[in-house]
Amino acid sequence: MDAKLGVYLCTGCGIKDAMDTDKLLDFAQKEVKPVVRRCDPLVCSAEFINQIKTDIAGQGLNRVVVAACSQRYFADRFDFGADILVDRVPLREFVVWTHQPNEEETTALAEDYLRMAGVRARNSEPPTPHIEEVSKDILVIGGGVAGLSAAKAAAEAGYNVVLVEKEAELGGWARKFKAVYPTKSPFNLLEKSPHHEMIAAVKDNPYIKVFTNSTVTLTSGQPGLFDVTIETGAEKTELRVGAIVQATGWRPYDAGKLIKYGFGLYPNVVTNVQFEEMALNGGIKKPSDGKAPQSIAVIHCAGSRDKEHLPYCSAVCCRTSLKQALYVREALPQTDVYLLYKDIRTPGLYEEFYTYVREQEHIYLTKGEVIEVAQDSDGMLRITLDDTLFGERVAVKADLLVLATGMAPSTLPMEETVEETTAESPATTADGKKAAASAEVGAKILNLTYRLGTDLPNLKYGFPDSHFICFPYETRRTAIYAAGATRAPMDLSSAQNDGLGAALKALQAVEAVARGAAVHPRVGDVSFPDFFLQRCTQCKRCTEECPFGTLDEDDKGTPKPNPNRCRRCGICMGACPERIISFKNYSPNMISQMIKAIEIPEEDEEKPRILTFMCENDAVPALDIAAWRRRQIDPTIRIIPVRCIGSVNTIFIADALSNGFDGILLLGCQRGDDYQCHFIRGSELANRRMENVQEKLKQLVLEPERVRIEAVELTDWERLPKLMNDFAEEVRGLGANPYKGF
Ligand code: SF4
Ligand code: SF4
Repeated sequence: MDAKLGVYLCTGCGIKDAMDTDKLLDFAQKEVKPVVRRCDPLVCSAEFINQIKTDIAGQGLNRVVVAACSQRYFADRFDFGADILVDRVPLREFVVWTHQPNEEETTALAEDYLRMAGVRARNSEPPTPHIEEVSKDILVIGGGVAGLSAAKAAAEAGYNVVLVEKEAELGGWARKFKAVYPTKSPFNLLEKSPHHEMIAAVKDNPYIKVFTNSTVTLTSGQPGLFDVTIETGAEKTELRVGAIVQATGWRPYDAGKLIKYGFGLYPNVVTNVQFEEMALNGGIKKPSDGKAPQSIAVIHCAGSRDKEHLPYCSAVCCRTSLKQALYVREALPQTDVYLLYKDIRTPGLYEEFYTYVREQEHIYLTKGEVIEVAQDSDGMLRITLDDTLFGERVAVKADLLVLATGMAPSTLPMEETVEETTAESPATTADGKKAAASAEVGAKILNLTYRLGTDLPNLKYGFPDSHFICFPYETRRTAIYAAGATRAPMDLSSAQNDGLGAALKALQAVEAVARGAAVHPRVGDVSFPDFFLQRCTQCKRCTEECPFGTLDEDDKGTPKPNPNRCRRCGICMGACPERIISFKNYSPNMISQMIKAIEIPEEDEEKPRILTFMCENDAVPALDIAAWRRRQIDPTIRIIPVRCIGSVNTIFIADALSNGFDGILLLGCQRGDDYQCHFIRGSELANRRMENVQEKLKQLVLEPERVRIEAVELTDWERLPKLMNDFAEEVRGLGANPYKGF
């Protein structure tokens, strides 16, 4: 389709004060050759937006270049429908607010950005969504409180739900609780577990089909088209669902590893789970003789917040111990209970529950580190504590000891310890194929046929990964969401909320997929990578580098896309040495043309030029913030925003250097274990590719310092301009790119 451009230049927000906007508009007419060009002090006003709409209708525009503010402002106002490509030139943030007004270099910068916008618009097409008939049914795995909540929420929103529970009854751990701690003021009455009512609601809901005594043995396909096999004994059921909530809960930390607390050595040492069972079924008794204990000690954080065991706080054990102390008050009013804690953690209003329990007769709390548990000749257990509030060692004697063990996620395979869990464990996919070298392993719950492994990846401490900061429910598998204690240690009411949250994400996912649109973080993006496979060399870089397992391979290694898994990051585009992966509105050709559109001054003008590829997720917003604070940026720098720094192909860098750029700066998100990359591996892969670039620079006898990659967070708005300016200074010090002009 022929591009018919309109260029709209804002003269407000200080733009007119910083440059001759009439001349700039004439420049746009000459260089960008739009069908129509206009300027206005308020391009974002309703009147002017209407003017643009009139031009679109009257002049047949299909591209609109808005040279005004950052694309992060007024996206809705500048949305003229799917057929009109809108290109935003952030003159305000990238030029006017960050550079000296009315300087020659500031005007040159604005002109370059307009030229770049022109080629970007001309080398893009409005994307057409990939749409096929999909299922909007939701599969929930796990019939505990989080799963029940997810199933109920999705069904109440009108979606069909399939709920799969491996045990004979729904309810999960809640079924095994005598009571739950209070959830409302005055925080002193133990409550009935919510699962009874939730099960009834789920069973009564015609939209929910429940499979008990069942497991999911195979999940193939992609969002909207997941083909799932459920096995119930010898019976197999095959069905199609659109999205999945994995709410498979937790398991108690293995107390067998807590010999130091006497578990397995002394009969009267039990876990809090065993104690709960006693309280629920037949009363609190000493296992050694079946008699009621006269005194009970409870060790909080038994195996939690302990580098040797679970390094994290299990979130619920303190409140569980307080609750169980009340069981004793009720059943054995004369029995003493000693709660031995490192710290008491009862967040929020649960402080009131803690205060209430602390004030009860025969309940004693003392702080200290347990250093020894021994059994005396009279059969009593002696617990020795150090670092106590008394400043001396204290021994507590009890005839029953309860270990408040913590929660390990169900996704952690039984044979694997928390410390052994890594993202890089080798895996075999459910259909028996060897997974990629970077495969990720979980317990066999989903049994996915993904090249990345059979399950959600187990990352830190065995919990499935999620983007902790921005999108708590997102996992690395599009449209599969973890909820409840399988996602993070949490109590029942949090698990209920978590199930609801994950269900809402699942509904968003199936609706997005039905529209051919991406889920987080490029919500609503309908572009999709096209592969010009005639030129594919089967190098497998794209299939191996896609963080979301979108690309399977045929036997030769040719990519076979599963479009609905795609998050539109462009990492495959950055990986492909043949440059045959492109989006309609984001492509190697488009970026190469943008690079060429930047005017490179002659060497004798002594005006270096630096190209910055800047991640749209954190770095560009950080620059917007810096601009609001009028931080200044070296005028030699030209910015190309990119979907992810991992979408930058090393060929762009070669292009830029041969076009005469003196330095190249790549700004992406934090990589490593505490990664911030919105596409998980993009910044890590970009960094890896940079090692090859550095090699290439050496071969060309170019200083490696000319190309640099840095991590930038949203909060780095103060550091970012300094980082860019320092780099510009360093490049000045290196002198001109010797290939300039060749
Ligand atoms: S790398 Fe990104 S854009 Fe490419 S297929 Fe994977 S998710 Fe999609
Ligand atoms: S990276 Fe490019 S050449 Fe290599 S397999 Fe993928 S599409 Fe083919």
